[in-house]
Amino acid sequence: MLPHILFRGLLLGLFGLVAAQDGGISGPQTSPEAAGYSCDPNSCKLPDCNCASTDPPGGLDPDDVPMFVVFTADDAIQSYTLDAVNQFLAHRKNPNGCQPKMTYYVSTNYTNYTLVTDWYVAGNEIADHTMTHVGSPPADEIHGNLIALNALAGIPMSSISGFRAPFLQYTAETLKLLHKAGFTYDSSASASIPVTDPHTDAYWPYTLDNGMANGCLAVPGTCKGEPKLPGFWEVPMYSFFDRRGGAGPHLMDPWLDYANGGTKLDNNATLDYMRNTFTDHYNGKRQPIGLYTHPIHVSPSYVAAPGDPQMIAMINTFLDWAQDHPNTWIVSTEQLLDWVRHPVPASQLNQLASLQCTPPAIDAKICNGMPQNEAGLINHCTFSDAPFYTCYGCPATQPMPSNPNPEQDTSKETRLRLPANCSTPFWDPVKGECLCTSSSCAFNDVLRPIGLNGENYVPGGAGGSMDSKPKPTDTPYIPFSGGNPLFVPSTTVLVGVFSVLVGAMGMARL
Ligand SMILES: [Zn+2]
Repeated sequence: MLPHILFRGLLLGLFGLVAAQDGGISGPQTSPEAAGYSCDPNSCKLPDCNCASTDPPGGLDPDDVPMFVVFTADDAIQSYTLDAVNQFLAHRKNPNGCQPKMTYYVSTNYTNYTLVTDWYVAGNEIADHTMTHVGSPPADEIHGNLIALNALAGIPMSSISGFRAPFLQYTAETLKLLHKAGFTYDSSASASIPVTDPHTDAYWPYTLDNGMANGCLAVPGTCKGEPKLPGFWEVPMYSFFDRRGGAGPHLMDPWLDYANGGTKLDNNATLDYMRNTFTDHYNGKRQPIGLYTHPIHVSPSYVAAPGDPQMIAMINTFLDWAQDHPNTWIVSTEQLLDWVRHPVPASQLNQLASLQCTPPAIDAKICNGMPQNEAGLINHCTFSDAPFYTCYGCPATQPMPSNPNPEQDTSKETRLRLPANCSTPFWDPVKGECLCTSSSCAFNDVLRPIGLNGENYVPGGAGGSMDSKPKPTDTPYIPFSGGNPLFVPSTTVLVGVFSVLVGAMGMARL
């Protein structure tokens, strides 16, 4: 192990975030025998059923398939973790001129909720990574995270559609639980065999109508037809491979691994094998590749252990190089999945609403996840071990799996939580008003079959027993573009606000 990684691991342990080397693999996680997978493409058809296959969806010729680079981040959201992501994505554009979006698998413990709101309103995907970062997670860790993200970050329940298991430790039960709770997909299983190997497990995302086809050697009770979860997707995490091929997989944070069986970090060797794996995918059947990051390791502003500038530069060099390949798109997991469900040739990709960017014009002084509107409106919740900010009123106690939505602290200003018929950027939590009055933006956040007792959870909880039900609006509406709220604030504003928050937080936990 590397001394600096151990140091980070120690720090992370202290802060309860995540152990370093979270999600590493060292060899194949499945085999054709272990998978025992069969699926009939004549009966399993898009958009809600897809067989595990190395062939692109929709029968497309690989030359017409976009090359997707899925960008994800895991764990708590703090200003310095968003700085880390921004340094890779904020200055980039996809072929349609839109800034790339990414998926943040959020653990709410140690998360600064107001930054989750900002990140979501900026068009990124917010997904579930349990409340306190536990592998093989019990139901309350998964459900509690949804409830807390909805209550304190104003994320609509229906937009939290994905899950990644901490340490990538999932079980058959985890997958069943996710399906039951109305999630669309899991992304915890790894594709661990190179695309150049005839037995590759680099499948395009697939539904579990016929069970799992990845992770079969690692996770009991999966594969050979199990678990059967119709319409529920697995989005495999695609490994990079160094010169050792299948014996040298690198999954999360590959830049923290030793390449080629070496004994020290070598950014050039890492860049070399990342390019080679990308090329194998690009020249083959165009299965996606993924940059699966723990941003805390490469943050320019994490005071306790700032990321190595040369490592950061290497990652940007890789992305520059990848984007030089025609039809390469950097996407969130939900954007990838939307395309898989509705595959169109790369030349028509901008037809998909989920890949477009249509900023809403909201310049009211409200606390809505748009930093330029929020001056003086963000609540500071001063818990000694993990303070945070929110637009939605401070809870009296820290949200925990046993009580993810505590009563609001009535000794402070209370707020009205996002109701089920208003979307985040339009909701004024101070006045309890929904600013959108257009029939073109109808929204109805659905019941979700979760809750501590398995009951359907109604989004927009007021916080504990407080009787402060939001007022319904006469005209319901949906987020912009008919899909995700795709608003692109200027990078400088975001970076500026994050910097202010770093200062405001005073790095108290450090
Ligand atoms: Zn994690």
